[in-house]
Amino acid sequence: SKEVRLAQRPEGYPDSSTWDVAEVEVPEPGPGEFVVRVELISLDPAMRGWLNDVRSYVPPVGIGEVMRALAAGTVTASKHDGYAVGDVVSGTFGVREYAVSDGAGVSRLDLDRAPMETWLGALGMPGMTAYFGLTDVGAVAPGDTVLVSAAAGAVGSIVAQLAKARGCRVIGVAGGQEKAEWLRGLGLDAVIDRREGDLLKQVRTAAPDGVDIYFDNVGGELLDAALANLARGARVVLCGAVSAYNEESLPEGPRRYMSLLVFRARMEGFVVFDYRDRYGEAVDAIAGLIDEGRLVAAETVLDGGVEAFPEALLGLFEGVNTGKLLLKV
Ligand code: NDP
Repeated sequence: SKEVRLAQRPEGYPDSSTWDVAEVEVPEPGPGEFVVRVELISLDPAMRGWLNDVRSYVPPVGIGEVMRALAAGTVTASKHDGYAVGDVVSGTFGVREYAVSDGAGVSRLDLDRAPMETWLGALGMPGMTAYFGLTDVGAVAPGDTVLVSAAAGAVGSIVAQLAKARGCRVIGVAGGQEKAEWLRGLGLDAVIDRREGDLLKQVRTAAPDGVDIYFDNVGGELLDAALANLARGARVVLCGAVSAYNEESLPEGPRRYMSLLVFRARMEGFVVFDYRDRYGEAVDAIAGLIDEGRLVAAETVLDGGVEAFPEALLGLFEGVNTGKLLLKV
């Protein structure tokens, strides 16, 4: 059985020297444990942050350790009272073919309700992030103009569709015409192709009365463009800054932060795990919209198994994905 370990901390983009692919025995469960055959691995921008030896909301992955990853699969052996062979589960199993678990942080997946892919996307961590970021941090209200970056991605595509369902005017930003077209198909009111440049002007044209919520997944120049175009009382939801994750030095600060003062706005960050106790509420809301045909759960699934992980991870930063990016084992 194969697993991917962190060989060395990258500077800038991870490359082949960052990783070791190792061959190990298929594990046996100890008392109170079970073994999962991993079938899908979640590729998340946050993984890049977990490689840095810095203080964060989780400790960094250690050198020589299996790369941390959310994943889903099927129980193949069990000495745990709560899990039986054949159960389908998700958890932080890592980039490996077989994982041992004691059940901590593991969820059972109901495949009658949604496919495994969706449990890692719209009904998984990205969907939870979209829901709590928009409703709790963003305090979304009908009639708001909502600007969302990486809008064709895992989190962004759910934010955009939830905001539409809440009666907002939604502007999505994505890379390339194909994604822009896809977002129009989801019913967004305006779409910005970030590759076409002059973001400040593009945001102004799309939101002449200003932006009430900017759901920020990327940081960088687009954050400045959003700050320049806020409406009074706006909320800037700091979800992530994917444009900066592979930079070797800290990015420039937001140049237009004084807009927060001018427009009586606030900018607030959040970590999805703090909402763990309320995931059920978000799952019901998102699954309900899916069932009513009002929300599309999209995934891009890459092939190649765990040895394809190093390349697959880079895909996130090239924007290869529409919806949630997953690696099939
Ligand atoms: P996505 O599916 O959105 O994938 C990343 C996307 O970012 C790409 O598809 C690409 O889309 C865009 N992108 C990549 N590089 C750049 C760049 N240099 N500049 C601008 N855009 C870029 O990932 P997720 O939905 O999983 O994550 C989105 C954000 O949410 C990330 O910042 C992530 O860290 C954050 N996050 C935060 C959580 C929290 O608790 N706060 C929890 C989960 C995620 P395109 O080319 O179309 O623009």
